[in-house]
Amino acid sequence: GDAATTVAQHASQPVSAVASTPNKQDLAKQLSTVAGSGDGSIFSQLTSNPFFTAGFGLAGLGALAAFGQRGLRRAAGLIRQRLLVDVEISIKDESYPWFLYWMSQHEQRQLTSHITGSSTPVERLSLSERIFQRLTPRMRHLAVETSKVELPNGAINTHFALIPGPGQHFIRYSGAFIHVNRQREANRTEMLSTGSRPFETTILTTLYRDRFVFESIFREAHELAAKAVEGKTVIYNARGVTWERFGNPRQKRPLDSVILEKGVKERIVADIQDFIGSAKWYADRGVPYRRGYLLYGPPGTGKSSFIQALAGHLDYGIAIINLSERGLTDDRLNHLLTIIPQRTLVLLEDVDAAYNSRRQKVEADGYAGANVTFSGLLNALDGVASAEERILFLTTNHIERLDEALVRPGRVDMTVRLGNATAYQISALWDRFYGDASETEDAANAKKDLFMQRLLECRVLPDLEDRAVSSASTAAFQGLFLYNKVNAQGAIEMAWQLSPGEMPN
Ligand code: ADP
Repeated sequence: GDAATTVAQHASQPVSAVASTPNKQDLAKQLSTVAGSGDGSIFSQLTSNPFFTAGFGLAGLGALAAFGQRGLRRAAGLIRQRLLVDVEISIKDESYPWFLYWMSQHEQRQLTSHITGSSTPVERLSLSERIFQRLTPRMRHLAVETSKVELPNGAINTHFALIPGPGQHFIRYSGAFIHVNRQREANRTEMLSTGSRPFETTILTTLYRDRFVFESIFREAHELAAKAVEGKTVIYNARGVTWERFGNPRQKRPLDSVILEKGVKERIVADIQDFIGSAKWYADRGVPYRRGYLLYGPPGTGKSSFIQALAGHLDYGIAIINLSERGLTDDRLNHLLTIIPQRTLVLLEDVDAAYNSRRQKVEADGYAGANVTFSGLLNALDGVASAEERILFLTTNHIERLDEALVRPGRVDMTVRLGNATAYQISALWDRFYGDASETEDAANAKKDLFMQRLLECRVLPDLEDRAVSSASTAAFQGLFLYNKVNAQGAIEMAWQLSPGEMPN
């Protein structure tokens, strides 16, 4: 047994050092002496032993492979240097999410084209393409991004989007091969305007001759991103010290779906459009470029709905902070108002909450929970003037709780009261709900008259003048019409429910 191992060790020598070893005959002699037998039969026995020769062959192959691999690696390095170009995008760049979204869409298109058989067969690829395909691992590694989308009818639809996950991907785009490497750095987070995320970069690599595809990829990605929010309103919520996108962009609400008193909408729209168009006027005079609107009135009169529709009309987003939110301090509010996302209307809801907390503080003679104070609100409104425009909407159900100091140019420039539904609004809302029913216009109007008459009888309306104010909010009327969606007669029969004392508000 021992002798045999020595032999095997000796025998493997020639493989690694072919030149320095003695010739076969010498070796055979040596071997025979070691083995102690009279002739060279052990060597011949060994070489004819299938296990031995197999080992011999394997060792040779291993050496060859090692040599070949080193060569291949060097060749790959050379190709990389000479023939490849790459582009790096980091998560800090605005185009980062666009690119990931583009890639998920692109992959989907590729998959379908693969299924329908229109992708290029391997044998039609050029040599360089084939090499590139070999060098880049093909891995489908996806991450799921779940989002809830509110449909125009209020229903919630859940979307699962498959986006390329961290790792290596391989895509083909207009004839070019692109290697995509999305890398995440586990212990580094990045503060973005939309919250904090683990830091990551994505590197795109392609053949030098195809370097022009990058430009068209990023252009496509941008167009795709723009299309995703086209006709939609982006909503931001305050989260910590940043603004975070709230869900997916919402379907724009048409401005004429919000019915206000005659002329009110037009007045605000004209004012705001005039403001948006006069950036230079403000800059020339060194006046902070801001405008504030205060909308007040009972709940359900369309304050939030109107601001949302207005944002859609102007093609702006909305950034919303509720001042009665717990944990919202003066400092946070101040900070948030200095980092407003571009092209957004800022909506400060329930501004009276700031006054409440002041009173509470005084009453409790001390700490009243982390809430915005009234002086904190004024400070935030006056805050450091930035060059950017700022359009602010304040809403409250309790104007009487506010301080006069709030209504001052630069803080609040225009105050609008939205009250309970007037006869004019009720009539317009009726038309929106029952106007296009299959019957004739006369018949529809007759039903509307009947409804208005009922409101008069039930003392919901004092008279039938356009300006007559009812005892119910627009939201209450909308509720009644929604309940009787295709049934005008039902709405007439249920009108008494809106009479004073019958409805909670
Ligand atoms: P507010 O902000 O004044 O409390 P909202 O805008 O939240 O009221 O309105 C609540 C609901 O009532 C919404 O569904 C909205 O569509 C409806 N509504 C209220 N006022 C109006 C209005 N003036 N025109 C159309 N719909 C309205």
